Amino acid sequence: ARQWGHERLLFRVIVLGDAAVGKSSLLRCFTDRPGGGPGGTAMPGPTVGVEFYSRTILMPPTGKAKLQLWDTAGQERFRSITKSFYRSAAGVLLVFDLTNRASFEHVPEWYHEAAGDRLPAFVLVGHKCDLVDERAVSAEEAGHLAATLGMAFVETSAHSNLNVELAFQTLAGGIQQAL
Ligand code: GDP
Repeated sequence: ARQWGHERLLFRVIVLGDAAVGKSSLLRCFTDRPGGGPGGTAMPGPTVGVEFYSRTILMPPTGKAKLQLWDTAGQERFRSITKSFYRSAAGVLLVFDLTNRASFEHVPEWYHEAAGDRLPAFVLVGHKCDLVDERAVSAEEAGHLAATLGMAFVETSAHSNLNVELAFQTLAGGIQQAL
């Protein structure tokens, strides 16, 4: 096992899911505070230019970790994300829109794309939970899918700043466990 001490670790996290589910909004919400901010643009593979952000978080009991957070920057529309992009990730935040049933039904496809031979940590995120009246996916069925795929489920809202920290902290905990 690794020593945590005062070591600073760097983990690469990718945020995945259908277009317009709110991936960029989640990332901006999470990084728009001390220790966070935009990172720039990088080219992890031959065809993808992705935006990235970073944020330093506390990893109990005593450590800190820097999360380098990669956005697919619109590439998800064309399904042109390369295998090398997925392989570079320690964790995946798999996001769907609670008001968009199709984005939920695509979750298994995203999971199988990202889960290669070396399995990263995953958290399933049901986003836009502030839109209570437009909800199209129940917490129960999302929780059931998450359990089937072996991951935690968190409902978030960037607009109401609800559970955004929790989603990333849960993922960081999963990454830590997998080390
Ligand atoms: P991406 O394509 O997955 O990166 O999605 P964006 O972050 O660009 O968001 C797509 C749309 O969803 C935008 O119009 C956002 O304002 C909206 N959106 C994002 N997060 C939330 C949220 O928490 N609540 C609501 N109601 N709308 C959101």
